[in-house]
Amino acid sequence: MSRAIVLMYHHVGSPPRGGDPLGLYVSPGMFRFQMWHLKTAGFTVVPLAEIADFAAGRSGGKRMVSLTFDDGYQDFFDNAFPVLRKYRFPSTVFLVTDLIGRENSWEAEDRTRLMDWDAITELKEEGVTFGSHTMTHPFLSRLPADRLRAELTGSKAYLEDRLRLPVDFFCYPYGDYDSATVAAAKQAGYRLAVTTKRGRVRAGDDPLQVRRSFIRAQTNPFLYLLRLHSGYEDRKRGG
Ligand SMILES: [Zn+2]
Repeated sequence: MSRAIVLMYHHVGSPPRGGDPLGLYVSPGMFRFQMWHLKTAGFTVVPLAEIADFAAGRSGGKRMVSLTFDDGYQDFFDNAFPVLRKYRFPSTVFLVTDLIGRENSWEAEDRTRLMDWDAITELKEEGVTFGSHTMTHPFLSRLPADRLRAELTGSKAYLEDRLRLPVDFFCYPYGDYDSATVAAAKQAGYRLAVTTKRGRVRAGDDPLQVRRSFIRAQTNPFLYLLRLHSGYEDRKRGG
């Protein structure tokens, strides 16, 4: 049975002075290796829309990989995008709409810059897809229904207005969601939502609970190849 794999990145860059306790930083050199490998090993890097079609059973056959970047850090613009452009790989970046051009204030340990509208507009013109990662990066399952709805619909409407494009994709902050969150994401009109649950995507999976493979600082070349070329991630599936 064919499988698709959605890779989850956060930072592409050097870790801050205080270190990288969460392992969110992939070095630019490692990122270049990872993208080079996708190209030379013959993977087809597809936009997230194609993963939605694949989950719905409408596409498949190729060895599909999709690239996602959470939070919208400035280092996506500086370090990741030049490599993606070189290979003409599509990608999706999930933005926190209240914090565009500011800092990731939800993260106490490692405050870093988020892309501003100039960067986002330039990337949009280069073909990068943007999705919503809420307005304020909350734990969605802890919110009352009206706040939950506002985070989902407010961020979508704002991005659609600024980008002048439909915003079909969503990313649950902290990978935190429950059945009410999924129902609200569907109600808000998202076609696909990504989680932090591990595993490859199979035809028939719920497009609003898409699994990903977390590429992080500890993902050495051996682990990277294992994730792409074996059922390693599927064995980590769990719940
Ligand atoms: Zn996030």
